[in-house]
Amino acid sequence: MSSLAPAVFLDRDGTLIEEVDYLADPAGVVLIPGAAQALKNLAQAGYKLVLVTNQSGVARGLLDEGKLAQIHERLSDLLHGEGTGLDGIYACIHHPEFGSPCDCRKPQPGMLLQAAEDLQLDLKRSWMIGDAARDLEAGKRAGARSLLVRTGKGSVLARERKDEGITVTEDLGEAARWILAQA
Ligand SMILES: [Mg+2]
Ligand SMILES: [Zn+2]
Repeated sequence: MSSLAPAVFLDRDGTLIEEVDYLADPAGVVLIPGAAQALKNLAQAGYKLVLVTNQSGVARGLLDEGKLAQIHERLSDLLHGEGTGLDGIYACIHHPEFGSPCDCRKPQPGMLLQAAEDLQLDLKRSWMIGDAARDLEAGKRAGARSLLVRTGKGSVLARERKDEGITVTEDLGEAARWILAQA
């Protein structure tokens, strides 16, 4: 009997919160409709909820780590206000063109693998939800399954890659229902 928990890894921009290019203002954090309820339902079913976000704006000098922490505090406050929350927040603040390469920037699976170690996760029973190809790829490389949402940049990708067998859901709410229906 394994004591490892399944997780749902969540992209941030365009998946959990509204897409803003290089969000640098905590006041700009807006939850996507239905997102908080989706997290609640997944948590209730035993999934750990882990945010994995590429934030190369830090490497690019568009915001600092303090501001990024404030943005994530704001996000946590909003979720808490809706009666839910995240079990972990992982951000890649790097970009290969602005500093040294890293192993955490999606599509690399570094953040998911680190979370699996920190939170004792069962990657095979886990899912990655995102609005970009690199999210889906990071999930796959970590050994999890991936779902695309049409929010954020997802509708464009869904159209471009409709013949590739990607599972497409409307938004985080539908993605959560889809995951819960597989169990
Ligand atoms: Mg995104
Ligand atoms: Zn990184």
